[in-house]
Amino acid sequence: MYKLDTPSLLFESSRPGRATAIFPGSDVPARPLEAMIPAKQLAPSPPPLPELSELDVVRHYTNLSTSNMSIDANFYPLGSCTMKYNPKRNERLAALPGLTAQHPYQDEGTLQGLLALLHELQEFLAEIAGLDAVSLQPAAGAQGELTALLVAGAYFRDRRESRTKVLIPDSAHGTNPASAHLAGFEAVTIKSDARGLVDLADFKAKLDDKVAAFMITNPNTVGLFDPQVGEIARRLHDRGALLYLDGANMNAILGAVRPGDMGADLMHYNPHKTFSGPHGGGGPGAGPIAVRQALAPYLPAPLVARDDDGTYRLDYDRPRSIGRVRSFFGNTGVLFRAYCYIRSQGPDGLKAVAQHAVLNANYLMTLVRDVCPVPFGERCMHEFVASARSLSRDRGIRAMDIGKRLIDHNIHAPTVYFPLIVPEALMIEPTETEGRETLETFAKVLRAIAEEDPAALHDAPHSTPISRPDEVKAAKTPVLKWNGTPENR
Ligand SMILES: *Cc1c(COP(=O)(O)O)cnc(C)c1O
Repeated sequence: MYKLDTPSLLFESSRPGRATAIFPGSDVPARPLEAMIPAKQLAPSPPPLPELSELDVVRHYTNLSTSNMSIDANFYPLGSCTMKYNPKRNERLAALPGLTAQHPYQDEGTLQGLLALLHELQEFLAEIAGLDAVSLQPAAGAQGELTALLVAGAYFRDRRESRTKVLIPDSAHGTNPASAHLAGFEAVTIKSDARGLVDLADFKAKLDDKVAAFMITNPNTVGLFDPQVGEIARRLHDRGALLYLDGANMNAILGAVRPGDMGADLMHYNPHKTFSGPHGGGGPGAGPIAVRQALAPYLPAPLVARDDDGTYRLDYDRPRSIGRVRSFFGNTGVLFRAYCYIRSQGPDGLKAVAQHAVLNANYLMTLVRDVCPVPFGERCMHEFVASARSLSRDRGIRAMDIGKRLIDHNIHAPTVYFPLIVPEALMIEPTETEGRETLETFAKVLRAIAEEDPAALHDAPHSTPISRPDEVKAAKTPVLKWNGTPENR
């Protein structure tokens, strides 16, 4: 069969003079660039941009889009990341020109619609959290953690209390200790007990007057709701310390439990997870935080405020604020989608989201746990962590092999090797948007992989342009231009 060789880069398909639009000749006299732009601002030569027809460009990006795993094309049970379907309605609404054609330097009087939306979102997020005040500024969950811990630091400084430590369970996301460290605290690890919950004895032993906060993820990263959270909050509050809730798992408890009612004093949201913002490949995200009244004065400035006459404005008059953590209004594109999602679900819909997420995860867990046992918990919340330890021991099939082989079946790999407390971890989160058939197919595929020849699995996937790149090298010394040799393609 004769097959057109598809070059991988637009630069390789470029042909001099090829263009997407052919303009008629100019009917005014040409003027040299130098006559209009100061010489020192002119490049010595035009930039070497590729020259292509519209069809070249359309084919290039259409083909490229189908070589990616994506939520629109594949089941994507990536634990912790909540890769739920991103409703197209949200995309259409967020693309309305009234929103996208705004400029952050516009006068506030001309931004009333935008500010009204953001203000309403602040109120929704406060209500869902059961907390009092919200900042939409942080750019991602991780930055939300950092911002909230800076707020906590400012609060204790104001009270003339020197608190240097933040307690973090060993099952926590790596961003928790990193944020604590960046905010100037010492991160102290709290062990998990045999059930996968906070080891209360270890917590009590490490809780002293130097503790500023305890960062809990509830439900936690093994997919379990920690019922000790009330007692943990009480003990912290008795010592004057704060409870921080990592809200990445809000998908499991929306409308059912409010972090403020669990005793949390501050938290972040991941709207790109919980509220269906499209994400992947590192962005885009947002990380709004919600806090109790006592912490509100320290939130980043500006907040969106509503005056008694119904006008909205950016409130910069916040003398005790930690300052800005991001430019302008926060990541409005992601925040709008969250707003659309919350409005289109409504309170009952949000609760149903959590119920279906939990139901789907439990159904899938019962279908796969005999192949990959689930060490913690008879039931789970919105995700569960299975272990490939016995497959690895008996047949030499590792979590990595399973993840890679799933790609050949058009399924994105679960999160592997996290959390660290489960050996050969496969962290699986189906989300509420998947139908029963998809879950059953996943279980069938997993079973089939467990029976396959281990040697053949070690170099899976077999169907992708790249099979097993050296991941560390790919991140540290990326080859961003293909030099034409098949080896580094
Ligand atoms: C995703 C996640 C984070 C970090 O959030 P980003 O938005 O990716 O910065 C923190 N904690 C947990 C448990 C997470 O799953």
